[in-house]
Amino acid sequence: MKHLQYLNKYFWKYRVLLGLGSVLIIIANLFALYPAEFVREAFDAIILSMNTEENTITSTSSILLKYGSLIILFALLKGVFMYFMRQTVIVMSRKIEYDLKNEIYKQYQALSISFYKKNKTGDLMNRISEDVSRVRMYLGPALMYAINIVILFFLVISKMLSISTTLTYYVLLPLPILAIAVYFVSHNINRKSEKVQEQLSNITTIAQETFSGVKIVKAFSNEENALNVFFNSCKMYTKRQLQLVKIEALFFPLIITMIGVSTVLTIYIGGLESFKGNISTGNIAEFIIYVNMLAWPVASVGWITSLVQRAAASQERINSFLLITSDIENKTTEHTPIKGDVVFKNVSFTYEDTKIQALKNLNFTLKSGDTIGIFGKTGSGKSTIANLVCRLYDCTAGDIEFGTTKIENLNLNSLRTAIGYIPQDGYLFSGTVRENIAFASDTTIENKIIEAAKKADILDEINNFKDGFDTIIGERGVQLSGGQRQRLAIARTFYKNPELFIFDNCLSAIDATKEQRILKQLKQESKNKSSIIISHRISTIKDADQIIVLEKGEITEKGTHNELLNNKGFYYKMQQIQSNSTSK
Ligand code: ADP
Ligand code: MG
Repeated sequence: MKHLQYLNKYFWKYRVLLGLGSVLIIIANLFALYPAEFVREAFDAIILSMNTEENTITSTSSILLKYGSLIILFALLKGVFMYFMRQTVIVMSRKIEYDLKNEIYKQYQALSISFYKKNKTGDLMNRISEDVSRVRMYLGPALMYAINIVILFFLVISKMLSISTTLTYYVLLPLPILAIAVYFVSHNINRKSEKVQEQLSNITTIAQETFSGVKIVKAFSNEENALNVFFNSCKMYTKRQLQLVKIEALFFPLIITMIGVSTVLTIYIGGLESFKGNISTGNIAEFIIYVNMLAWPVASVGWITSLVQRAAASQERINSFLLITSDIENKTTEHTPIKGDVVFKNVSFTYEDTKIQALKNLNFTLKSGDTIGIFGKTGSGKSTIANLVCRLYDCTAGDIEFGTTKIENLNLNSLRTAIGYIPQDGYLFSGTVRENIAFASDTTIENKIIEAAKKADILDEINNFKDGFDTIIGERGVQLSGGQRQRLAIARTFYKNPELFIFDNCLSAIDATKEQRILKQLKQESKNKSSIIISHRISTIKDADQIIVLEKGEITEKGTHNELLNNKGFYYKMQQIQSNSTSK
């Protein structure tokens, strides 16, 4: 239960709806209660009129008409108030659901990359969909019925006690047994339906994998195998579904039997009591109605308990995400200008999860307005430098400074707004070409978009697409080539117009002439701005003001292209190999 306390702040936020809902529940219950009395009064009045001399058909029917219409009127009123009760309490639960989903999503956005490495996407999705829905069952239906039960019990039982204590005890006897039985049954139903759900998502995953991998399945002539896997999974699903149905079939008979037992007891004990003259015949009828009024709520105690338990388990999982603080701490909310040289001072970095030391004791300065080239083989730590500059991770040792300010003291938002980072895979979002280019900003300025596409050397290709800038990228959209993806990602960054460009190997799939054109554009674009160009191709970085050569996370050489060639080191060797392979 303690995990659900987290939600109390939301109850407080919607206290008006909650309070109003409770009042409506009380009113609805009062209207449910009185018809039982009308039945008793009708019974007693008819028996009385039968025993008196002037008994006529008309007097009996007028009694029946009077009580009949009263009962219908009260039933209608009860219905109206129940409608409003649902409108307030269930609406409140939907509002909280909305808030909670937003809160979780906001937290997801705030958490750092290392969080995403530790948690699977499926889990993240489940927290925000499955778990929130379960919590909503507690906020809405469970809460509403719980309030309803408390009020109903109080009203009905005090009414029953005022009529006959003995009868009340006997009649209530089977109800606790019912509550406990329903608890076990619904607990079982929940567990089994979770299993069914699990198997269903299993089937979906299998189907999805085979569909998206259909080329491989066919090329390996693996259709029969794929069919078998699917078949077995479906078989398992049916088996679990049948287990669920068996338990579910118990539910109603159980409740009906218990209500039956209570009713029989009411008639038997009530008959004896009325024979003794302790109660009237009408009281027996009244009691039968009370018993029926109590039976469903008692049954739902078990159901509510299991709902609350499930919600608590879900909220515990949600809390485990909500209560983490990002390991990348934003120390200031004020805007901090990003300017000056970028200085690496004895920077070392080790990836926490793999314990791989990616950078060792790095020292270099990127002068404001300059371009630095970072050269090295795959795995030498180039992308790690980019990650650290964007502060996706904090350095394990040493400092990175912008001007004279340590990176940790900069506003994270200012920092990232100032940086235009293009990763190697040039990740694009589903949506149109236009939306992808204008991704980083709230406004889309058409001629700026065209300009950016032109600078990234992709404008002609976009114009050749059937829908131009409205072409949908993504699952069902055009198939972009690797080079096109990279250039779109570059256009996205040109559109953003940042202070510091970081090109992380993002020209790798682009041919040499286009590459040189884009680099020239970058030079123009970043005249007074700094840029970091990462590549394992010498042609990409040779014009940088300064080049650092990374080997296994360490800087082994530093200088301009010509200086490095004169060094006759690793860089020179690679230049020989690369120029040979291109001239051949
Ligand atoms: P490069 O960009 O030069 O290819 P990286 O900076 O990506 O090199 O990688 C440097 C080293 O750090 C490699 O040994 C790599 O395996 C490791 N590494 C890179 N990214 C991660 C990561 N996200 N988690 C753990 N280890 C990583
Ligand atoms: Mg890399």
